[in-house]
Amino acid sequence: MKKIGVLTSGGDAPGMNPAIRAVVRKAIFHNVDVYGIYGGYSGLISGNIKKLELGSVGDIIHRGGTMLHSARCIEFKNKEGQQKGIEQLRAHGIEGLVVIGGDGSYRGAMALSEQGFPCVGVPGTIDNDIPGTEQTIGFDTALNTVIDAIDKIRDTATSHERTFVIEVMGRNAGDIALWAGLAGGAETILIPEENYDMNEIAERLRSGQERGKKHSIIIVAEGVCSGYEFARQLEEATNFDTRVSVLGHIQRGGSPTAADRVLASRLGARAVELLIEGKGGRAVGIEKNKLVDYDIIDALNQKHTLDLDLFNLSKELSI
Ligand code: ADP
Repeated sequence: MKKIGVLTSGGDAPGMNPAIRAVVRKAIFHNVDVYGIYGGYSGLISGNIKKLELGSVGDIIHRGGTMLHSARCIEFKNKEGQQKGIEQLRAHGIEGLVVIGGDGSYRGAMALSEQGFPCVGVPGTIDNDIPGTEQTIGFDTALNTVIDAIDKIRDTATSHERTFVIEVMGRNAGDIALWAGLAGGAETILIPEENYDMNEIAERLRSGQERGKKHSIIIVAEGVCSGYEFARQLEEATNFDTRVSVLGHIQRGGSPTAADRVLASRLGARAVELLIEGKGGRAVGIEKNKLVDYDIIDALNQKHTLDLDLFNLSKELSI
């Protein structure tokens, strides 16, 4: 393999830049040329492709977002779009592709691999919802952003003795809510993987108040309902003075944490190794701190699971 391509697709995540850097530097280290595809699958179809040099990825390791930009591309979901993409890659002499993104992006990579163009998927999303890896690039940074917000909200919640509902991202997964809730000492965490009982929540908040708690923090994963909807239900069930904070897209930005930079560097470099070894149609991941790779189909067929022990622990610690 003498030329490979790299693109970022779907929702952006902090850590995509260090992953791109790792792909470029690792490939050049092995005398393989690298082409950046700008704007995800849309840029692939339109041929927005440029050669990247060592210096092209200088000074990006600490930057959020993705220097290759990202996009959602409906056209790529059908075979004609995918064929156009393959034609563009072949026209540039590119023989393998690293796709950094979420599960939708993986499906695109799988489609190309099935049509004979080798791709390797690298899990990049703040949601931590990709099977085949215990952690995705961007999750740790998003968590730290959420915790910073919780700590700040806690200050004002304590001053005014208020109940705060904080809505966090995560699509259909509760990982951000659970980890940030545990690390931020939230009284209650609502995740899509578990049903909640409003009476139990109200009782928990009341007993905390009776013990002298000055505030209550409730984390709601966006996959459960909106923070405003939950606050409405809570105010109906109790008479707590409730405020809502929807953290929104700040969770997708910011300088990647050390953990995300290390993860991105390891996964990006491994993806290049696989292509050099002639192994396409794979997805890289991390399990028990070791690099792993799966057939993309097998990775997508695995079910993303949340650690319910953490959920139970958070309940025990927030009594
Ligand atoms: P993410 O990768 O973050 O999950 P999306 O689900 O939006 O984000 O997927 C990103 C892009 O991947 C889509 O805009 C589309 O171009 C491509 N894609 C998604 N699903 C498929 C599919 N089933 N087949 C081919 N390409 C797909």
